[in-house]
Amino acid sequence: GGAASLATALAACTAERTADYYGSSSGGQGALVGVSMPTKNLERWSRDGENLKTLLTDLGYQVELQFADNKVEQQSSQLQTMINKSPKVIVVGAIDGSALAPVLQSAANLGITIIAYDRLIRDTEAVDYYVTFDNYNVGALQGKYLVDALGLESAKGPINIEPFSGSPDDNNARFFFSGAWDVLAPYVKAGTLVCPSGKMPASVDDWQSIGIQAWSNTTAQAEMENRLNSFYSATTRVGAVLAPNDAIALGVSQALDSAGYGPTDWPALTGQDADQANVANIVAGRQSMTVFKDTRKLGERCAAMVAQIIKSEQVEVNDTDSYDNGVKVVPAYLLEPVTVDASNVKEVLVDSGYYSAGEIGL
Ligand code: BGC
Repeated sequence: GGAASLATALAACTAERTADYYGSSSGGQGALVGVSMPTKNLERWSRDGENLKTLLTDLGYQVELQFADNKVEQQSSQLQTMINKSPKVIVVGAIDGSALAPVLQSAANLGITIIAYDRLIRDTEAVDYYVTFDNYNVGALQGKYLVDALGLESAKGPINIEPFSGSPDDNNARFFFSGAWDVLAPYVKAGTLVCPSGKMPASVDDWQSIGIQAWSNTTAQAEMENRLNSFYSATTRVGAVLAPNDAIALGVSQALDSAGYGPTDWPALTGQDADQANVANIVAGRQSMTVFKDTRKLGERCAAMVAQIIKSEQVEVNDTDSYDNGVKVVPAYLLEPVTVDASNVKEVLVDSGYYSAGEIGL
């Protein structure tokens, strides 16, 4: 009857006003945000996840944080469970750039906004924003570092280099490699850099030809041991290794150890992420550099995006043409990565509170 429908109408009205109140005046306090990270096993991702959770909680949101153990299926089913709880926004650090399209489409159908975190999600409309570091520039910094460290501008060579690429299912891997190879290729062409193993692409587009590699230190160690055993000797030494990230650099340094490399013939070796063991290696002279991508800044930027979305504000981006996911160009916010080597490690990583001096052997 009339009373019941009046009560229903009043309840609906109150609910609407409450939603409106929280939605516009206090930033959707209490709204649920889902965060799906690839794995806890790599240091950077576990920092990323925990940091983002803290930032979002401080903004007054509820956070459902999941790590997927680097298993695509697991990430998909964790996302499905998350979607069932009706979050406003889902933040995804994808394991495989292309595998999440169906599950994310079901989220998009429910009006959930999706942010690709660090890695682009490919081949779907169901990704609204991308927050990351300038991935091409990460590679360019590695390439430029090798140019300087080896004095390539004036060196005659030939200097032996061994390049590594990252996991082919990660959209970032291509950007890292092409950023580095665009810098190094002219020296290969000139004969200043040579690659005894032959595991070098004919052109940047051919980057996967150097072998399927994973974001794994053990795979990288085995691969480097193979190359050292097969193509190097007491007289043929490797002078530089392009390692796209710290996990790979760690594996490479272990292989160099077992092959008897030491302080006098340790090659120039790049990395990325400023993982603790690698930074300690930089301090100890066993890795030349790493590209630091401050996860605190990435988290802050991502949290700001989430808040803008929930408050229906304009979402700030600074790149609208670099990241085509195969279906659309995803508006992105790119942060600048920073080169860290022995000369600035204290200033960048210790003085900023990222590590204590003791943690990295300073
Ligand atoms: C990230 C790197 C990381 C790599 C392996 C990439 O997508 O951008 O920071 O080293 O994945 O997890």
